[in-house]
Amino acid sequence: MKQNCKQCHLAHGTVPSFPVYEDNDIVVLLCDEPSVSGHMVAIPKEHFPILEVMPDPLAGKLFAAATKVSSALFEHAQGMNVIVQNGISAGQDAAHVQIHLIPRAQNDNINFNWMPKQLSEEEMNNAEFLLKEQAKSVFVEQEHQVHVLDEHQAEEIHENFQVKRLRRMP
Ligand SMILES: [Zn+2]
Repeated sequence: MKQNCKQCHLAHGTVPSFPVYEDNDIVVLLCDEPSVSGHMVAIPKEHFPILEVMPDPLAGKLFAAATKVSSALFEHAQGMNVIVQNGISAGQDAAHVQIHLIPRAQNDNINFNWMPKQLSEEEMNNAEFLLKEQAKSVFVEQEHQVHVLDEHQAEEIHENFQVKRLRRMP
């Protein structure tokens, strides 16, 4: 648990919170800054700044819990947005992984739409090539379990997430 992290305190109940589901590793809470009534967040109890530094089994468990709670809520909603803001540039405001579960209704005035970008075939080919190469190295690293990040490295990745991504692009 990280003392200056609000999500850690919410997850461990050291500040008032509204847990919907909880086990040893994760907790699903009513969001303390909700977009609508019923907006929840699924968070790991251990402090991880971004998804990439979470162990795969825990990430799997977190998503499974989010999916189960989401399907329970689906009976009372017309739809559901399942959102991870991973990195500051992606709108992440807390350095602690959380999956937002936002129940939706028609004409609820919440909007996550974007305008599709027209990319040339060359741009698509370049992006495919770069990302395929990157994916290869990531999967090799994971197979050998070569890197375990300490907390400082994880924080650095969180802060530089977008910068590092941009450096890889041409
Ligand atoms: Zn935390």
